Amino acid sequence: MSKLHTLTVKQISNLLQSKQISSVEITKQYLMQANSHKGLGAFLDCNEGVTFAQAKAADARLAAGNAHPLTGVPIAHKDIFVTKDFVTTAGSKMLTGYRSPFDATVVSRLGNGADGVAGAGMVTLGKLNCDEFAMGSANENSFYRKVQNPWDTSRVPGGSSGGSAAAVAAGLAPAATGTDTGGSIRQPASFCGITGIKPTYGRASRYGMVAYASSLDQAGPMARTAEDCALLLSAMCGADLDRDSTSLDLPPEDYTRGLNDSIAGLRIGIPKEFFADGLASDVRTAIDEALKHFEKLGAKLVPISLPRTELAIPVYYIIAPAEAASNLSRFDGVKFGHRAADYKDLSDMYKKTRAEGFGEEVKRRIMIGNYVLSHGYYDAYYLQAQRIRRMIADDFQEAFKSCDVIAGPVAPSVAWKLGDKDRKPLDDYLADIYTLPASLAGLPGMSIPVGFGEGNMPVGMQLIGNYLQEGRLLNAAHQYQLATDWHLKKSPLMSGGIA
Ligand code: GLN
Repeated sequence: MSKLHTLTVKQISNLLQSKQISSVEITKQYLMQANSHKGLGAFLDCNEGVTFAQAKAADARLAAGNAHPLTGVPIAHKDIFVTKDFVTTAGSKMLTGYRSPFDATVVSRLGNGADGVAGAGMVTLGKLNCDEFAMGSANENSFYRKVQNPWDTSRVPGGSSGGSAAAVAAGLAPAATGTDTGGSIRQPASFCGITGIKPTYGRASRYGMVAYASSLDQAGPMARTAEDCALLLSAMCGADLDRDSTSLDLPPEDYTRGLNDSIAGLRIGIPKEFFADGLASDVRTAIDEALKHFEKLGAKLVPISLPRTELAIPVYYIIAPAEAASNLSRFDGVKFGHRAADYKDLSDMYKKTRAEGFGEEVKRRIMIGNYVLSHGYYDAYYLQAQRIRRMIADDFQEAFKSCDVIAGPVAPSVAWKLGDKDRKPLDDYLADIYTLPASLAGLPGMSIPVGFGEGNMPVGMQLIGNYLQEGRLLNAAHQYQLATDWHLKKSPLMSGGIA
């Protein structure tokens, strides 16, 4: 049985660069693995013809000697990034069968490049399932199908980048892209025992990412190790000023450079609000152990406070739906996407199209968003939320006066059961408590596997850095991963492999 699907991006890169394997061979292995685990529900679209053509082109580039370290390494993209060679649905019926005329900037930077920007030459395996328009925490809001967690197929993989996390954890792809608006890279990474990072807001281009909440949406990599995330993030980030008005005017950075620096003396802030009531004891135990390990590596734990942590939930669930209501107004059946078959007039066409095309959670958020933006409520809800958002960002700056990074849980519990009828939408909103503050502040955050909890499910630890400190987060995570092996544990689906 071949074990190629258990390799990290870095290992695959080494094999490709030293010509011990071809991109076509490794790509074939992953596609076979994906085919034999269709029941997981991770992929929404594959196109073997396109994928093999990219692998052949990558082999030619490797042979010609002008390859990037990622050339020929397979990757799969969250179905929120538009792609010209694969269907893009954003997990919604509204976009069934939609084909974009262009690739998202992140996709072209990792892939074949576009408009004068060189691409890394990675090979796209396909598009990955996600919650509809990235709204959700369990991938149960996808119109197409639910995704199973490779550690226990009766549980959710997390969301909204649930397909991305499940694909990597099952060995269907060595890496995937994700997007994080309020935790959608960090939380599924935590639930599936992989590593993921959301960079500083503005560091990766949002061009070609189907918009959910534009002031929060940010792309990032999901893989098995911090080293892999560093390689991928270096290729993803960089200014895209002509296409994304919130793109930071900064050149790309090599995040692998500082990975091996010592973390002796690193001050890790421990926010007391992240360890209060509501945190499950199994998660707490794993995080406490990980923190002890960081101390062994020379880090110092510093108690800090993020006093408005609880307010992050109402603030986020006002601002994100407000922006979503506005962003989703473009889906009206006129220019693209689903259109109702029978209607009386234009306004009837809008109504029927949107009633048919959007799922329940998306409609709920559009209604909340329009409500908080409406005359008479705008000041009371939306403006007030914006003010508290600023205070949450200020709290972080106060905290960073006494620490270099902040550590805590990603989620209050391990992954819950699929189809749990007792869970209400509000339960999912509350479970976002530890990821939302960094999102609202626009700070970089990551999740690293630090052990197992109830039901032998993975537990992730969150590291949050100050603006543009993703290198420091990756360095801390890499040093921890050199000293531990949680990130190398294989899910039952990955160890099963293919015959
Ligand atoms: N769970 C959060 C939400 O539903 C975050 C989703 C995300 O980051 N895309 O909005």
